[in-house]
Amino acid sequence: MIKDISLRVSPEIAATPELLAPKVYGAAGCKVNDWKIVKRSVDARKRDIIINLTVRVASGNDQKVSSGYNPVDFPDVADSKQTIVIVGAGPAGLFGALECIRLGMRPIVIERGKDVDARRLDIATLNREKKIDPESNYCFGEGGAGTFSDGKLYTRSKKRGNPTEVLSLLVQHGADENILIDSHPHIGSDRLPGIMKSIRQTIINCGGEVRFETRVDHLLIEDGKVRGVETSEGDRIMADAVILATGHSARDVYRNLSRDGVKMEAKGLAVGVRLEHPQRLIDQIQYHNPAGRGRWLPAAEYNFVTQADGRGVYSFCMCPGGVVVAAGSGLEELVVNGMSASARSSIWANSGMVVEIRPGDFPEYADRGEFEMLDMIEDLEKKFYKESNDSIVAPAQRMKDFVDGKDSKNLPPSSYLPGLYESRMDRLLPPFIGSRLQKGFQDFGRKAKGFLTNEAILIGLESRTSSPVRIPRDKETLCHVEVEGLYPAGEGAGYAGGIVSAAIDGMRCAQSINNKLNSLIV
Ligand SMILES: Cc1cc2nc3c(=O)[nH]c(=O)nc-3n(C[C@H](O)[C@H](O)[C@H](O)COP(=O)(O)OP(=O)(O)OC[C@H]3O[C@@H](n4cnc5c(N)ncnc54)[C@H](O)[C@@H]3O)c2cc1C
Repeated sequence: MIKDISLRVSPEIAATPELLAPKVYGAAGCKVNDWKIVKRSVDARKRDIIINLTVRVASGNDQKVSSGYNPVDFPDVADSKQTIVIVGAGPAGLFGALECIRLGMRPIVIERGKDVDARRLDIATLNREKKIDPESNYCFGEGGAGTFSDGKLYTRSKKRGNPTEVLSLLVQHGADENILIDSHPHIGSDRLPGIMKSIRQTIINCGGEVRFETRVDHLLIEDGKVRGVETSEGDRIMADAVILATGHSARDVYRNLSRDGVKMEAKGLAVGVRLEHPQRLIDQIQYHNPAGRGRWLPAAEYNFVTQADGRGVYSFCMCPGGVVVAAGSGLEELVVNGMSASARSSIWANSGMVVEIRPGDFPEYADRGEFEMLDMIEDLEKKFYKESNDSIVAPAQRMKDFVDGKDSKNLPPSSYLPGLYESRMDRLLPPFIGSRLQKGFQDFGRKAKGFLTNEAILIGLESRTSSPVRIPRDKETLCHVEVEGLYPAGEGAGYAGGIVSAAIDGMRCAQSINNKLNSLIV
Protein backbone atom coordinates (compact mmCIF):
# COMPACT_ATOMS: atom_id res chain seq x y z
CA MET A 1 0.00 0.00 0.00
CA ILE A 2 1.18 3.52 -0.81
CA LYS A 3 0.04 6.32 1.47
CA ASP A 4 1.06 9.88 2.40
CA ILE A 5 1.59 10.93 6.01
CA SER A 6 2.06 14.44 7.40
CA LEU A 7 4.78 15.23 9.90
CA ARG A 8 5.78 18.41 11.74
CA VAL A 9 9.39 18.14 12.88
CA SER A 10 12.34 20.30 13.88
CA PRO A 11 14.73 21.55 11.15
CA GLU A 12 17.45 19.19 12.41
CA ILE A 13 15.21 16.13 12.24
CA ALA A 14 13.93 17.12 8.79
CA ALA A 15 17.51 17.36 7.51
CA THR A 16 18.80 14.12 9.08
CA PRO A 17 17.41 10.87 7.62
CA GLU A 18 18.54 8.78 10.62
CA LEU A 19 16.52 11.02 12.96
CA LEU A 20 13.57 11.30 10.62
CA ALA A 21 13.18 7.56 9.91
CA PRO A 22 11.86 6.61 13.40
CA LYS A 23 9.29 9.44 13.16
CA VAL A 24 8.13 8.09 9.79
CA TYR A 25 7.85 4.53 11.10
CA GLY A 26 5.98 5.73 14.18
CA ALA A 27 3.50 7.81 12.19
CA ALA A 28 2.94 5.10 9.54
CA GLY A 29 1.70 2.62 12.17
CA CYS A 30 2.80 -0.38 10.06
CA LYS A 31 5.97 -1.98 8.68
CA VAL A 32 7.44 0.49 6.20
CA ASN A 33 9.28 -0.93 3.15
CA ASP A 34 10.32 2.40 1.65
CA TRP A 35 9.66 6.10 2.19
CA LYS A 36 10.33 9.42 0.51
CA ILE A 37 9.65 13.09 1.30
CA VAL A 38 7.25 14.44 -1.33
CA LYS A 39 6.48 17.92 0.11
CA ARG A 40 8.47 20.21 2.40
CA SER A 41 7.83 23.70 3.74
CA VAL A 42 9.16 25.88 6.55
CA ASP A 43 6.67 27.17 9.11
CA ALA A 44 8.44 30.21 10.63
CA ARG A 45 5.39 31.88 12.17
CA LYS A 46 6.40 31.07 15.76
CA ARG A 47 9.68 31.15 17.65
CA ASP A 48 10.07 27.36 17.33
CA ILE A 49 10.54 26.83 13.64
CA ILE A 50 8.79 23.76 12.28
CA ILE A 51 9.33 21.88 9.03
CA ASN A 52 6.11 20.52 7.54
CA LEU A 53 6.70 17.31 5.63
CA THR A 54 4.53 15.04 3.56
CA VAL A 55 6.16 11.63 3.45
CA ARG A 56 5.06 8.90 1.03
CA VAL A 57 5.43 5.41 2.47
CA ALA A 58 5.26 1.99 0.83
CA SER A 59 4.08 -0.91 2.98
CA GLY A 60 2.52 -4.37 2.59
CA ASN A 61 2.86 -5.60 -1.00
CA ASP A 62 4.37 -2.30 -2.19
CA GLN A 63 8.14 -2.39 -1.88
CA LYS A 64 9.14 0.98 -3.37
CA VAL A 65 7.95 4.57 -3.51
CA SER A 66 8.35 5.54 -7.17
CA SER A 67 10.59 8.37 -8.35
CA GLY A 68 9.00 11.79 -8.30
CA TYR A 69 8.47 12.34 -12.04
CA ASN A 70 8.03 10.64 -15.39
CA PRO A 71 10.59 11.79 -17.97
CA VAL A 72 9.13 12.82 -21.34
CA ASP A 73 10.24 10.69 -24.28
CA PHE A 74 10.87 13.34 -26.94
CA PRO A 75 10.39 12.09 -30.54
CA ASP A 76 12.64 12.82 -33.53
CA VAL A 77 11.06 15.70 -35.45
CA ALA A 78 13.77 16.17 -38.10
CA ASP A 79 11.31 15.15 -40.83
CA SER A 80 8.29 16.96 -39.44
CA LYS A 81 6.28 18.87 -42.05
CA GLN A 82 5.67 21.67 -39.59
CA THR A 83 8.39 24.20 -38.79
CA ILE A 84 7.87 26.59 -35.92
CA VAL A 85 10.24 29.54 -35.59
CA ILE A 86 10.73 30.54 -31.96
CA VAL A 87 12.34 33.92 -31.41
CA GLY A 88 14.17 34.00 -28.07
CA ALA A 89 15.82 31.22 -26.04
CA GLY A 90 14.47 32.26 -22.63
CA PRO A 91 12.17 29.99 -20.60
CA ALA A 92 9.17 30.73 -22.87
CA GLY A 93 11.15 29.97 -26.03
CA LEU A 94 12.99 26.87 -24.78
CA PHE A 95 9.96 25.25 -23.14
CA GLY A 96 7.89 26.21 -26.18
CA ALA A 97 10.47 24.37 -28.30
CA LEU A 98 10.35 21.27 -26.08
CA GLU A 99 6.56 21.24 -26.34
CA CYS A 100 6.72 21.63 -30.15
CA ILE A 101 8.94 18.55 -30.24
CA ARG A 102 6.68 16.57 -27.91
CA LEU A 103 3.81 17.34 -30.28
CA GLY A 104 5.80 16.40 -33.41
CA MET A 105 6.63 19.88 -34.76
CA ARG A 106 10.17 21.01 -35.63
CA PRO A 107 11.34 24.12 -33.75
CA ILE A 108 14.00 26.55 -34.95
CA VAL A 109 15.02 28.65 -31.95
CA ILE A 110 16.66 31.96 -32.86
CA GLU A 111 18.54 33.79 -30.11
CA ARG A 112 20.32 37.15 -30.42
CA GLY A 113 22.66 36.41 -27.49
CA LYS A 114 25.36 33.81 -27.04
CA ASP A 115 25.42 30.26 -25.68
CA VAL A 116 25.73 30.15 -21.87
CA ASP A 117 29.49 29.50 -21.79
CA ALA A 118 30.31 32.52 -23.97
CA ARG A 119 27.67 34.54 -22.15
CA ARG A 120 29.21 33.81 -18.77
CA LEU A 121 32.49 35.36 -19.99
CA ASP A 122 30.67 38.49 -21.20
CA ILE A 123 28.99 38.84 -17.82
CA ALA A 124 32.36 38.58 -16.06
CA THR A 125 33.64 41.33 -18.39
CA LEU A 126 30.53 43.43 -17.67
CA ASN A 127 31.26 43.33 -13.94
CA ARG A 128 34.98 43.94 -14.38
CA GLU A 129 34.85 46.71 -16.97
CA LYS A 130 31.45 48.13 -15.94
CA LYS A 131 30.23 48.11 -19.54
CA ILE A 132 27.18 46.33 -20.91
CA ASP A 133 27.35 44.43 -24.21
CA PRO A 134 23.90 45.14 -25.73
CA GLU A 135 23.70 41.64 -27.25
CA SER A 136 25.11 39.55 -24.37
CA ASN A 137 24.25 40.41 -20.78
CA TYR A 138 22.05 39.39 -17.83
CA CYS A 139 18.96 39.62 -20.08
CA PHE A 140 20.14 38.33 -23.48
CA GLY A 141 21.63 34.94 -24.28
CA GLU A 142 20.87 31.23 -23.84
CA GLY A 143 18.23 30.69 -21.16
CA GLY A 144 17.18 34.36 -21.32
CA ALA A 145 16.83 36.46 -18.20
CA GLY A 146 16.33 33.33 -16.12
CA THR A 147 19.84 31.86 -16.49
CA PHE A 148 21.85 34.14 -14.24
CA SER A 149 19.11 34.59 -11.67
CA ASP A 150 18.08 33.18 -8.33
CA GLY A 151 16.14 30.55 -10.24
CA LYS A 152 13.13 30.85 -7.96
CA LEU A 153 10.50 28.55 -9.34
CA TYR A 154 7.58 29.51 -7.17
CA THR A 155 4.62 30.82 -9.14
CA ARG A 156 1.17 31.94 -8.14
CA SER A 157 -0.18 31.67 -11.66
CA LYS A 158 -1.43 28.11 -11.46
CA LYS A 159 -4.63 28.89 -13.31
CA ARG A 160 -2.82 29.07 -16.67
CA GLY A 161 -1.07 25.72 -16.55
CA ASN A 162 0.67 23.09 -14.52
CA PRO A 163 3.96 24.25 -12.91
CA THR A 164 4.82 20.63 -12.04
CA GLU A 165 5.30 19.84 -15.75
CA VAL A 166 7.90 22.61 -15.97
CA LEU A 167 9.63 21.47 -12.79
CA SER A 168 9.70 17.87 -14.05
CA LEU A 169 11.28 18.97 -17.33
CA LEU A 170 13.89 20.91 -15.37
CA VAL A 171 14.67 17.77 -13.33
CA GLN A 172 14.82 15.74 -16.55
CA HIS A 173 17.47 18.22 -17.73
CA GLY A 174 19.60 18.11 -14.61
CA ALA A 175 17.89 20.08 -11.81
CA ASP A 176 17.88 18.60 -8.33
CA GLU A 177 14.74 16.57 -7.51
CA ASN A 178 14.27 18.73 -4.42
CA ILE A 179 12.57 21.31 -6.64
CA LEU A 180 9.64 18.88 -6.88
CA ILE A 181 9.38 18.76 -3.10
CA ASP A 182 10.05 22.24 -1.72
CA SER A 183 7.18 24.70 -1.39
CA HIS A 184 9.48 27.53 -2.57
CA PRO A 185 11.86 25.76 -4.93
CA HIS A 186 14.92 27.45 -6.43
CA ILE A 187 17.83 26.33 -8.59
CA GLY A 188 20.57 28.98 -8.49
CA SER A 189 22.76 30.65 -11.09
CA ASP A 190 25.58 28.10 -10.72
CA ARG A 191 23.27 25.22 -11.80
CA LEU A 192 20.99 26.93 -14.34
CA PRO A 193 23.53 27.20 -17.18
CA GLY A 194 24.06 23.40 -17.26
CA ILE A 195 20.30 22.83 -17.35
CA MET A 196 19.88 25.29 -20.23
CA LYS A 197 22.62 23.50 -22.20
CA SER A 198 20.92 20.19 -21.61
CA ILE A 199 17.61 21.57 -22.94
CA ARG A 200 19.47 22.86 -26.00
CA GLN A 201 20.93 19.37 -26.50
CA THR A 202 17.46 17.77 -26.36
CA ILE A 203 16.21 20.21 -29.00
CA ILE A 204 19.16 19.48 -31.30
CA ASN A 205 19.18 15.71 -30.69
CA CYS A 206 15.50 15.57 -31.68
CA GLY A 207 16.11 17.36 -34.98
CA GLY A 208 15.33 20.93 -33.95
CA GLU A 209 17.73 23.84 -34.33
CA VAL A 210 19.12 26.49 -32.00
CA ARG A 211 20.88 29.47 -33.62
CA PHE A 212 22.81 31.88 -31.40
CA GLU A 213 24.03 35.40 -32.14
CA THR A 214 21.19 35.78 -34.63
CA ARG A 215 18.83 38.69 -34.07
CA VAL A 216 15.38 38.76 -35.59
CA ASP A 217 14.61 42.26 -36.82
CA HIS A 218 11.34 41.75 -38.71
CA LEU A 219 8.39 39.47 -39.05
CA LEU A 220 7.53 38.53 -42.62
CA ILE A 221 3.83 39.34 -42.78
CA GLU A 222 1.75 38.85 -45.95
CA ASP A 223 -2.01 39.30 -46.15
CA GLY A 224 -2.30 39.46 -42.37
CA LYS A 225 -0.42 36.18 -41.85
CA VAL A 226 3.11 35.71 -40.59
CA ARG A 227 5.22 33.67 -43.03
CA GLY A 228 8.51 33.75 -41.15
CA VAL A 229 11.15 36.13 -39.85
CA GLU A 230 14.03 38.20 -41.16
CA THR A 231 17.31 38.40 -39.27
CA SER A 232 19.64 41.37 -38.88
CA GLU A 233 21.86 39.71 -41.52
CA GLY A 234 18.93 39.80 -43.95
CA ASP A 235 18.32 36.02 -43.86
CA ARG A 236 14.70 34.96 -44.22
CA ILE A 237 13.53 31.93 -42.27
CA MET A 238 10.11 30.66 -43.24
CA ALA A 239 7.74 29.01 -40.76
CA ASP A 240 4.24 27.61 -40.30
CA ALA A 241 3.93 29.74 -37.16
CA VAL A 242 6.13 32.06 -35.12
CA ILE A 243 6.37 32.12 -31.32
CA LEU A 244 7.67 35.55 -30.33
CA ALA A 245 9.32 35.04 -26.93
CA THR A 246 11.76 37.92 -26.78
CA GLY A 247 11.34 38.99 -23.13
CA HIS A 248 10.62 42.47 -21.82
CA SER A 249 14.07 43.95 -22.35
CA ALA A 250 14.14 43.72 -26.15
CA ARG A 251 12.79 47.20 -26.73
CA ASP A 252 13.95 47.21 -30.35
CA VAL A 253 11.55 44.31 -30.93
CA TYR A 254 8.56 46.40 -29.78
CA ARG A 255 9.69 49.32 -31.92
CA ASN A 256 10.19 47.13 -35.00
CA LEU A 257 6.77 45.53 -34.46
CA SER A 258 5.23 48.99 -34.24
CA ARG A 259 6.87 50.01 -37.54
CA ASP A 260 5.56 46.76 -39.08
CA GLY A 261 2.05 47.74 -37.93
CA VAL A 262 1.62 45.00 -35.30
CA LYS A 263 -0.95 46.02 -32.67
CA MET A 264 0.34 46.49 -29.08
CA GLU A 265 -0.84 48.30 -25.97
CA ALA A 266 0.72 50.01 -22.94
CA LYS A 267 0.80 47.89 -19.79
CA GLY A 268 1.29 48.73 -16.13
CA LEU A 269 4.27 47.40 -14.19
CA ALA A 270 6.14 48.16 -10.96
CA VAL A 271 9.25 50.29 -10.48
CA GLY A 272 11.50 51.00 -7.51
CA VAL A 273 14.83 49.92 -6.09
CA ARG A 274 16.78 46.85 -4.91
CA LEU A 275 16.98 46.74 -1.17
CA GLU A 276 19.99 44.97 0.31
CA HIS A 277 20.18 43.86 3.97
CA PRO A 278 22.75 41.71 5.71
CA GLN A 279 21.30 38.18 5.47
CA ARG A 280 22.08 37.76 9.19
CA LEU A 281 19.52 40.45 9.98
CA ILE A 282 16.81 38.87 7.83
CA ASP A 283 17.49 35.47 9.45
CA GLN A 284 17.18 37.05 12.91
CA ILE A 285 13.91 38.76 12.01
CA GLN A 286 12.24 35.93 10.12
CA TYR A 287 13.35 33.14 12.47
CA HIS A 288 12.71 35.25 15.61
CA ASN A 289 16.14 34.38 16.91
CA PRO A 290 19.08 36.73 17.70
CA ALA A 291 21.37 33.80 16.90
CA GLY A 292 20.15 33.75 13.30
CA ARG A 293 19.30 30.68 11.27
CA GLY A 294 21.71 28.19 12.81
CA ARG A 295 22.91 25.07 11.02
CA TRP A 296 19.70 23.53 9.72
CA LEU A 297 17.60 26.32 8.28
CA PRO A 298 17.91 27.89 4.82
CA ALA A 299 18.72 31.60 4.37
CA ALA A 300 15.43 33.27 5.34
CA GLU A 301 13.09 34.84 2.78
CA TYR A 302 10.56 37.62 3.19
CA ASN A 303 7.57 38.86 1.31
CA PHE A 304 5.99 42.24 2.03
CA VAL A 305 3.02 43.94 0.48
CA THR A 306 1.03 47.03 1.36
CA GLN A 307 -0.96 49.85 -0.22
CA ALA A 308 0.21 53.46 -0.28
CA ASP A 309 -1.96 56.21 -1.78
CA GLY A 310 -3.91 53.81 -3.95
CA ARG A 311 -0.99 51.81 -5.35
CA GLY A 312 0.55 48.50 -4.33
CA VAL A 313 4.01 48.63 -2.77
CA TYR A 314 5.69 45.26 -2.47
CA SER A 315 8.84 43.21 -2.33
CA PHE A 316 9.64 41.44 -5.57
CA CYS A 317 11.98 38.62 -6.59
CA MET A 318 13.67 38.24 -3.19
CA CYS A 319 17.12 36.65 -3.30
CA PRO A 320 18.20 35.24 0.07
CA GLY A 321 21.98 34.83 0.26
CA GLY A 322 22.24 36.54 -3.10
CA VAL A 323 23.90 39.43 -4.89
CA VAL A 324 22.69 42.54 -6.69
CA VAL A 325 23.59 42.62 -10.40
CA ALA A 326 23.67 45.17 -13.23
CA ALA A 327 20.78 43.83 -15.28
CA GLY A 328 20.45 46.44 -18.02
CA SER A 329 20.56 45.46 -21.68
CA GLY A 330 21.23 48.81 -23.35
CA LEU A 331 24.29 51.01 -23.47
CA GLU A 332 23.08 53.99 -21.49
CA GLU A 333 20.74 52.51 -18.90
CA LEU A 334 21.18 51.70 -15.25
CA VAL A 335 19.07 48.76 -14.13
CA VAL A 336 19.61 46.41 -11.19
CA ASN A 337 18.21 43.02 -10.23
CA GLY A 338 19.22 40.14 -7.98
CA MET A 339 20.54 36.61 -8.29
CA SER A 340 21.79 33.80 -6.04
CA ALA A 341 23.77 30.61 -6.31
CA SER A 342 22.14 27.31 -5.32
CA ALA A 343 23.56 27.45 -1.77
CA ARG A 344 22.25 30.98 -1.21
CA SER A 345 25.31 31.50 0.91
CA SER A 346 26.29 35.15 0.40
CA ILE A 347 26.15 37.42 3.44
CA TRP A 348 23.47 39.57 1.81
CA ALA A 349 19.73 39.38 1.20
CA ASN A 350 18.16 41.51 -1.53
CA SER A 351 14.78 42.10 -3.08
CA GLY A 352 13.14 44.48 -5.48
CA MET A 353 11.03 47.00 -3.55
CA VAL A 354 8.64 48.40 -6.04
CA VAL A 355 5.56 50.54 -6.55
CA GLU A 356 2.82 49.60 -8.98
CA ILE A 357 2.46 52.12 -11.83
CA ARG A 358 -0.31 52.24 -14.43
CA PRO A 359 -0.90 53.92 -17.78
CA GLY A 360 -2.08 57.46 -16.99
CA ASP A 361 0.10 57.83 -13.86
CA PHE A 362 2.67 59.98 -15.68
CA PRO A 363 0.68 62.51 -17.74
CA GLU A 364 3.82 63.73 -19.57
CA TYR A 365 3.88 60.33 -21.35
CA ALA A 366 0.17 60.19 -22.11
CA ASP A 367 0.68 60.89 -25.83
CA ARG A 368 3.12 57.97 -26.37
CA GLY A 369 0.41 55.41 -27.20
CA GLU A 370 1.56 51.81 -26.69
CA PHE A 371 4.96 53.11 -25.55
CA GLU A 372 3.65 55.25 -22.70
CA MET A 373 5.12 53.05 -19.96
CA LEU A 374 8.13 51.86 -21.94
CA ASP A 375 9.29 55.43 -22.66
CA MET A 376 8.72 56.40 -19.04
CA ILE A 377 10.91 53.64 -17.58
CA GLU A 378 13.52 53.98 -20.32
CA ASP A 379 13.90 57.68 -19.54
CA LEU A 380 14.22 56.87 -15.85
CA GLU A 381 16.91 54.23 -16.51
CA LYS A 382 18.81 56.78 -18.63
CA LYS A 383 18.45 59.39 -15.89
CA PHE A 384 19.99 56.99 -13.35
CA TYR A 385 22.83 56.25 -15.79
CA LYS A 386 23.51 59.95 -16.45
CA GLU A 387 23.36 60.76 -12.77
CA SER A 388 26.05 58.12 -12.24
CA ASN A 389 28.48 59.94 -14.55
CA ASP A 390 27.50 57.81 -17.51
CA SER A 391 28.25 54.53 -15.80
CA ILE A 392 26.66 51.52 -14.13
CA VAL A 393 28.27 52.36 -10.79
CA ALA A 394 24.94 52.67 -9.01
CA PRO A 395 23.43 55.29 -6.72
CA ALA A 396 22.59 54.07 -3.23
CA GLN A 397 21.17 55.41 0.04
CA ARG A 398 20.75 53.86 3.45
CA MET A 399 17.17 52.73 4.04
CA LYS A 400 16.28 54.85 7.06
CA ASP A 401 17.97 57.89 5.53
CA PHE A 402 15.76 57.39 2.49
CA VAL A 403 12.62 57.31 4.62
CA ASP A 404 13.78 60.37 6.60
CA GLY A 405 14.91 62.24 3.45
CA LYS A 406 18.52 62.52 4.65
CA ASP A 407 21.98 62.17 3.09
CA SER A 408 23.81 58.94 3.83
CA LYS A 409 27.27 59.91 5.05
CA ASN A 410 28.71 56.60 3.89
CA LEU A 411 27.56 53.21 2.65
CA PRO A 412 28.07 49.73 4.10
CA PRO A 413 29.79 47.02 2.00
CA SER A 414 27.56 45.69 -0.77
CA SER A 415 27.43 42.72 -3.14
CA TYR A 416 27.00 44.95 -6.21
CA LEU A 417 30.26 44.40 -8.10
CA PRO A 418 30.40 47.52 -10.33
CA GLY A 419 30.33 49.65 -7.16
CA LEU A 420 28.07 52.22 -5.45
CA TYR A 421 28.12 55.90 -4.54
CA GLU A 422 26.05 57.82 -1.99
CA SER A 423 23.06 59.46 -3.56
CA ARG A 424 19.59 60.76 -2.69
CA MET A 425 17.25 58.10 -4.02
CA ASP A 426 14.36 60.06 -2.52
CA ARG A 427 15.20 62.80 -5.03
CA LEU A 428 16.22 60.62 -7.97
CA LEU A 429 13.00 58.60 -8.03
CA PRO A 430 9.86 60.32 -9.31
CA PRO A 431 7.83 61.49 -6.25
CA PHE A 432 4.98 59.20 -7.38
CA ILE A 433 7.26 56.23 -6.69
CA GLY A 434 9.61 57.59 -4.00
CA SER A 435 6.93 58.83 -1.60
CA ARG A 436 4.99 55.56 -1.79
CA LEU A 437 8.16 53.57 -1.19
CA GLN A 438 8.86 55.67 1.92
CA LYS A 439 5.38 54.88 3.23
CA GLY A 440 5.74 51.23 2.30
CA PHE A 441 9.03 50.92 4.18
CA GLN A 442 7.48 52.47 7.28
CA ASP A 443 4.72 49.88 7.10
CA PHE A 444 7.16 46.99 6.59
CA GLY A 445 9.25 48.29 9.52
CA ARG A 446 6.15 48.15 11.73
CA LYS A 447 5.35 44.61 10.58
CA ALA A 448 8.89 43.29 11.05
CA LYS A 449 10.87 44.88 13.86
CA GLY A 450 14.40 45.68 12.69
CA PHE A 451 13.60 45.59 8.97
CA LEU A 452 13.62 49.39 8.54
CA THR A 453 17.27 50.02 9.32
CA ASN A 454 20.29 51.95 8.13
CA GLU A 455 22.13 48.64 7.88
CA ALA A 456 20.14 48.19 4.65
CA ILE A 457 20.68 50.15 1.43
CA LEU A 458 18.57 51.01 -1.57
CA ILE A 459 20.26 50.55 -4.96
CA GLY A 460 18.66 51.86 -8.14
CA LEU A 461 17.00 51.38 -10.48
CA GLU A 462 14.70 48.33 -10.39
CA SER A 463 12.58 48.83 -13.48
CA ARG A 464 12.24 45.48 -15.26
CA THR A 465 9.68 43.78 -13.06
CA SER A 466 7.43 42.95 -16.00
CA SER A 467 6.71 44.14 -19.50
CA PRO A 468 5.70 47.78 -20.10
CA VAL A 469 3.93 46.66 -23.31
CA ARG A 470 1.38 43.95 -24.04
CA ILE A 471 1.13 42.27 -27.43
CA PRO A 472 -2.56 41.39 -27.46
CA ARG A 473 -3.69 37.89 -28.37
CA ASP A 474 -6.86 35.89 -28.49
CA LYS A 475 -7.70 34.37 -25.09
CA GLU A 476 -8.50 30.94 -26.52
CA THR A 477 -6.10 30.51 -29.45
CA LEU A 478 -3.25 32.65 -27.99
CA CYS A 479 -2.71 33.96 -31.52
CA HIS A 480 -2.13 37.69 -32.02
CA VAL A 481 -5.46 39.50 -32.42
CA GLU A 482 -4.63 40.69 -35.94
CA VAL A 483 -1.68 38.71 -37.32
CA GLU A 484 -2.46 35.08 -38.09
CA GLY A 485 0.25 32.60 -37.11
CA LEU A 486 1.95 34.97 -34.64
CA TYR A 487 2.03 33.72 -31.03
CA PRO A 488 3.39 36.37 -28.63
CA ALA A 489 4.63 34.42 -25.60
CA GLY A 490 6.14 34.86 -22.17
CA GLU A 491 7.06 37.93 -20.23
CA GLY A 492 7.77 40.24 -23.16
CA ALA A 493 4.31 39.71 -24.56
CA GLY A 494 2.82 40.62 -21.17
CA TYR A 495 1.52 37.15 -20.31
CA ALA A 496 4.01 35.91 -17.73
CA GLY A 497 6.15 37.09 -14.86
CA GLY A 498 8.93 34.72 -13.92
CA ILE A 499 10.66 31.60 -15.13
CA VAL A 500 7.88 29.07 -14.55
CA SER A 501 5.00 31.18 -15.81
CA ALA A 502 7.00 32.11 -18.94
CA ALA A 503 7.82 28.44 -19.55
CA ILE A 504 4.15 27.47 -19.11
CA ASP A 505 3.13 30.21 -21.54
CA GLY A 506 5.64 29.04 -24.17
CA MET A 507 4.27 25.50 -23.86
CA ARG A 508 0.68 26.71 -24.15
CA CYS A 509 1.54 28.59 -27.34
CA ALA A 510 3.07 25.42 -28.82
CA GLN A 511 -0.12 23.50 -27.91
CA SER A 512 -2.31 26.15 -29.56
CA ILE A 513 -0.21 26.06 -32.71
CA ASN A 514 -0.51 22.29 -32.78
CA ASN A 515 -4.32 22.53 -32.42
CA LYS A 516 -4.50 25.05 -35.24
CA LEU A 517 -2.15 23.28 -37.66
CA ASN A 518 -3.71 19.89 -37.08
CA SER A 519 -7.23 21.11 -37.59
CA LEU A 520 -6.04 22.62 -40.92
CA ILE A 521 -4.53 19.29 -41.97
CA VAL A 522 -7.61 17.20 -41.16
C1 LIG B 1 18.85 39.01 -12.72
C2 LIG B 1 17.47 38.40 -12.85
C3 LIG B 1 17.01 37.53 -11.86
C4 LIG B 1 15.76 36.93 -11.97
N1 LIG B 1 15.38 36.02 -11.02
C5 LIG B 1 14.24 35.32 -11.21
C6 LIG B 1 13.89 34.26 -10.33
O1 LIG B 1 14.60 33.94 -9.40
N2 LIG B 1 12.73 33.60 -10.57
C7 LIG B 1 11.90 33.92 -11.60
O2 LIG B 1 10.86 33.28 -11.77
N3 LIG B 1 12.20 34.92 -12.44
C8 LIG B 1 13.36 35.61 -12.29
N4 LIG B 1 13.69 36.60 -13.16
C9 LIG B 1 12.74 36.91 -14.25
C10 LIG B 1 12.79 35.80 -15.29
O3 LIG B 1 14.10 35.60 -15.66
C11 LIG B 1 11.92 36.18 -16.46
O4 LIG B 1 10.60 36.33 -16.00
C12 LIG B 1 11.91 35.09 -17.53
O5 LIG B 1 13.22 34.79 -17.95
C13 LIG B 1 11.07 35.51 -18.73
O6 LIG B 1 11.16 34.52 -19.70
P1 LIG B 1 10.91 34.82 -21.24
O7 LIG B 1 11.28 33.58 -21.96
O8 LIG B 1 9.55 35.36 -21.43
O9 LIG B 1 11.92 36.00 -21.63
P2 LIG B 1 13.48 36.13 -21.43
O10 LIG B 1 13.98 35.22 -20.39
O11 LIG B 1 13.74 37.58 -21.28
O12 LIG B 1 14.10 35.62 -22.80
C14 LIG B 1 13.97 36.33 -23.99
C15 LIG B 1 15.11 35.93 -24.92
O13 LIG B 1 14.85 36.48 -26.20
C16 LIG B 1 16.06 36.91 -26.78
N5 LIG B 1 15.76 37.95 -27.77
C17 LIG B 1 15.29 39.21 -27.54
N6 LIG B 1 15.12 39.86 -28.71
C18 LIG B 1 15.50 39.01 -29.68
C19 LIG B 1 15.57 39.13 -31.10
N7 LIG B 1 15.20 40.25 -31.74
N8 LIG B 1 16.02 38.08 -31.82
C20 LIG B 1 16.41 36.92 -31.18
N9 LIG B 1 16.37 36.77 -29.84
C21 LIG B 1 15.90 37.79 -29.10
C22 LIG B 1 16.83 37.46 -25.58
O14 LIG B 1 18.21 37.50 -25.87
C23 LIG B 1 16.47 36.48 -24.49
O15 LIG B 1 17.40 35.43 -24.39
C24 LIG B 1 14.93 37.23 -13.08
C25 LIG B 1 15.38 38.12 -14.06
C26 LIG B 1 16.63 38.70 -13.95
C27 LIG B 1 17.10 39.66 -15.01
